[in-house]
Amino acid sequence: MNLADTRGRSLHDLRISITDRCNFRCRYCMPREIFNREYEFLQRELLLSFEEITRLTGVFQDLGVEKVRITGGEPLLRKGVEELIAELSALELQDLTLTTNGSLLSRKAQGLADAGLRRVTVSLDSMDPEVFATMNDVDFPVTDVLGGIEAAAAAGLTPIKINMVVKRGVNADGVLPMAEYSKGTGHIVRFIEFMDVGRSNGWRLDDVVPAQEILETIAAKYPIEPVDPNYAGEVAGRWRYKDGSGEIGVITSISQPFCGDCTRARLSAEGVLYTCLFAVGGIDFRAPLRAGATDDDLKQMITDLWTQRTDRYSELRSEATVDLPKVEMSYIGG
Ligand code: SAM
Ligand code: SF4
Ligand code: SF4
Repeated sequence: MNLADTRGRSLHDLRISITDRCNFRCRYCMPREIFNREYEFLQRELLLSFEEITRLTGVFQDLGVEKVRITGGEPLLRKGVEELIAELSALELQDLTLTTNGSLLSRKAQGLADAGLRRVTVSLDSMDPEVFATMNDVDFPVTDVLGGIEAAAAAGLTPIKINMVVKRGVNADGVLPMAEYSKGTGHIVRFIEFMDVGRSNGWRLDDVVPAQEILETIAAKYPIEPVDPNYAGEVAGRWRYKDGSGEIGVITSISQPFCGDCTRARLSAEGVLYTCLFAVGGIDFRAPLRAGATDDDLKQMITDLWTQRTDRYSELRSEATVDLPKVEMSYIGG
C-alpha cells in the first residue's frame, strides 16, 4: 500500500527519536543556556516503549514505509537500544539505520551490528580537536568519535555516512580537511547547511554556508562530478571525486529546498508524529496506543494525517517563519 499526500508525495521513510537527552550540547542544536539543569526532559514513563515503537513501525511498514532511521537526542544513551534494533530488524525493512554523535560507538558498534543494524551515520563537525570540543560544548575529544567510526567500520556498519553541519566563522575552514579525511575510505561525508530548526539555536542566514560554496572549495582541489540520486526523495545531493576515490553529499535545506520530494515522517520519543522537521505541532500516538487502539485504528490515523499533509516549510522560509514556535531538533531528531 502506498499513501500520497496533497502534493503527491508518498510515505516512504520514518525517523524515530528514542530519547530527547544528549551528552553533547552542540550550540546549533542544544545550547547549554537553554538545555541546562532546569530544562525538563521527558520522564521515562512518557517515552514510547520498545514494544510500542516496534508495533507502530510495523503499522507504518504496512502503509509503505521501507526505511527507518533511529535518532534522538543521542540514541545510544537509551538503555537497551540493541534490543530495539533487534526487534525492528525482525520486521525486515529495506533499510534500518541510526544517527549518532559517535561518543559511545566504540563500545556499542559491534552489539548494534549483531542486533541487525545495517549502517550508521555519525555526526562530526570538525577534525580539529579544539573546534570540535567547542562545537559539542562538553569538551568531548574528537579522537573518541574517530575511534567510534573505526569501530563501526570494523563491525560492518558501512558505508558510514558522516554528517558535518557547516557554520560560517565556526568550522567552515574544516570542510577540506573533512573531505580529505574521508576520501578513499568508503565513508561518505555529507555537508549540511545550518538550519533554522527549533527556536533556540539563534539561527541567522549569515551563518549559513551555501552548499555551492562548499562544493567549490572541494572542487578547487579535487575535481568532482554529480551522481544521480539513489532514489526519489533522497535528502543529500550526491557528488563523486573524478579520480574514483569516493563520494560526498550536500544537504541544501536552505539554498535549494527539496520539499517536493519529501517522503519522511518523524516520530518523537514520546510518540508524537510530525510530517515536517519544522513543524509546530503533531499528532499523539501514545495515548491511542495505550488505550487499546487496533492496528487498523492506527493505520487510519496515519492515513488521515498523511493524506492531508501540505508541508513545504523550506520552500516558504522567510524572516517570519524563523520565529515560529517549532519543535526542537533534539526532540524531533533531525
Ligand atoms: N545526536 C545524534 C547526532 O548528533 O548525530 C542524533 C540526533 S541529531 C539532532 C541529528 C542530526 O541533526 C545531526 O547530524 C546534527 O548535526 C543535525 N543537526 C542538529 N541541529 C542542526 C541544525 N540546526 N542544522 C542542521 N543540522 C542540525
Ligand atoms: Fe546532541 Fe546530536 Fe543535538 Fe549535538 S546534534 S546536541 S549530539 S542531539
Ligand atoms: Fe520535508 Fe519539511 Fe524539510 Fe520540506 S521543510 S523537506 S516538507 S521536512
